[in-house]
This record gives sequence, structure tokens and C-alpha cells, in this order.
Amino acid sequence: MRYNVAQLLKEQSGHTRRYTLHEDIGHLDADITPLSTLDGNIQFIRTADGILVVGSLHCSLELTCSRCLEPFTFPLQFTLEEEFRPTIDIVTGAYLPLPADADIATQIDARHTLDLTEVVRQNILLALPLNPICRTACKGLCPICGKNLNEGTCDCAHNEIDPRLQSLKRLLDE
Ligand SMILES: [Zn+2]
Ligand SMILES: [Zn+2]
Repeated sequence: MRYNVAQLLKEQSGHTRRYTLHEDIGHLDADITPLSTLDGNIQFIRTADGILVVGSLHCSLELTCSRCLEPFTFPLQFTLEEEFRPTIDIVTGAYLPLPADADIATQIDARHTLDLTEVVRQNILLALPLNPICRTACKGLCPICGKNLNEGTCDCAHNEIDPRLQSLKRLLDE
């Protein structure tokens, strides 16, 4: 996901380039299991300080359901909006002072290459649900025998006693 932006850096603010993204993200991150390429449209907009990247991207990922523990296909859509800053002045070739809090992920390198890889990786990780579920009606696993209750019922007695009351019930039963 590397783009040479030397020409765009020479343009005035407001100048825009459009790209269609179609990328293999198989090696992006150990926690990301893609089932498709990453696709979408992005725009590079020359700003006073650098290049603003905006876009809308989508891909399919394999996630594991937090209720039934089965893998499922998760369609992920996210927007990008990141300003990249040059490290070298395009006209003079001099190194540019970067702000102290400058993020290395959004730096355009000395060869005027803008690399979207790290920003895309971070945005995908941020867009992932904390507790993914395969469907809203997922019944999960039986807490006693572990059977996937989406595939049918089990023979376990599912009494509805609040676990906090279990010890009280035990006392009463004695
Ligand atoms: Zn599930
Ligand atoms: Zn069971």
C-alpha cells in the first residue's frame, strides 16, 4: 500500500488524487484473518502541511464467535482519515522539523513514499468488535456439556438459578 506522492507534494493545497485500493492483506497482522482482499476508494488531498488521506474501505474477515466459539465471516467496513506529513521538503530536499508527537505511521519517507500499511492495520484492529457474535440470536455453548446450542438442544438440566443464590440453595437442600 505504498504510493509515491512526489508529484502531489509539488501541487498546491486542495489538489487531489484518487485511487482504487485492491490489496492482499494476508500478512497485515497475526490477529487479522482476511477472507477477501481489502477494497475501496481513497483520495489523497494536498494540505498546507502534507497529504490528507480519506477513504472508505471494506473487507471480509474471519472472526471467532465469543458465544459459540465457531468461526464466522465478518464484513468489515471502515473509513480512513489521516494526515501524512513529509519528512523532506519536496523543493529544497531539506529535512523538515516534525512535531514532537509525530506518529511514524503517518510520515512520508525521504523518497516521498506514503505507506498506508500501518494506518490500515491500526484502523482494522480498532474497527473489530470486542465481543464478536456470529448472529444476534446465537445461543452459545451449554455451560455444562459444552454443546453448541445453535445445533440443537442437549439433555442437561438448565435450571435458571442465579449463581449467587446457588450456595443458599445448597444450604436449604441439606
Ligand atoms: Zn455464535
Ligand atoms: Zn448441555
